[in-house]
Amino acid sequence: MESAEGLVKTGAWHRGIARGARRLGGLLLDLAYPPVCLNCDAPTVVPDTLCASCFRGLRPITAPLCPILGLPFAASLGADALSAEALADPPPFGRARAAVSYGEVSGTIVSRLKYGDRPELARFCARLMAGAGHELWGDGPVLVPVPLHPARQRERRFNQSAELAHRLGSLTGLSVDTGLVRRTRRTRQQVGLSGDGRQRNVAGAFAVDPELLVRTRGRRVVVVDDVYTTGATVKAVTRALRKAGAEAVDVVTFARVVIGADLPI
Ligand SMILES: [Zn+2]
Repeated sequence: MESAEGLVKTGAWHRGIARGARRLGGLLLDLAYPPVCLNCDAPTVVPDTLCASCFRGLRPITAPLCPILGLPFAASLGADALSAEALADPPPFGRARAAVSYGEVSGTIVSRLKYGDRPELARFCARLMAGAGHELWGDGPVLVPVPLHPARQRERRFNQSAELAHRLGSLTGLSVDTGLVRRTRRTRQQVGLSGDGRQRNVAGAFAVDPELLVRTRGRRVVVVDDVYTTGATVKAVTRALRKAGAEAVDVVTFARVVIGADLPI
């Protein structure tokens, strides 16, 4: 009994040492690279987050929401009430959810994420998206990022939507399929285009091989992107998935333009 106890104690002692070393390592790392705000670079207590002032500038989208478009309502209109936008122009996807409304702070995060190749930003965004999309995870859907055209992927070497999908996958335990949807045509950047222009720009730009859809085994697909502006891109991806036979498609983004709430892109 004594020796067994001794072993347990030795084990605990070793674990204690290992924990101490890890803590010391973390401390030394913090001294060399003190954690800073992901948005304004002000010092923060813990890494990979925002300072208090930038957090105040972030506008989380919370219920009550349009059950289809995920647009926030000023007051609860009942569970089945739809937004005017969803009634006027029903989208091809089932539901869209976003973590925050697009504004100054979220806009900076999105552009840093897109052009900066900083994985800690994707981790931060994915944490908020995991909460915002909680209704979408229940029956184990497949996460599918909006792809870049292969030529652009080679130039940039980084697809922010794929990065978000991978982080979201590790947080939620859902599988990620980056090869299901292909971008078949190089499109110009959506920034600066009108709603109709955006739709024309991405119409038919995506393709899904129906044979590849077999590997999703009839599971729902959740399309992952960084920003929902007019929805033209995620609608085009949804149409390609539906054309190939996907039965249900939802959408999750980090930010979403909410007219009247924040800055337009
Ligand atoms: Zn800050």
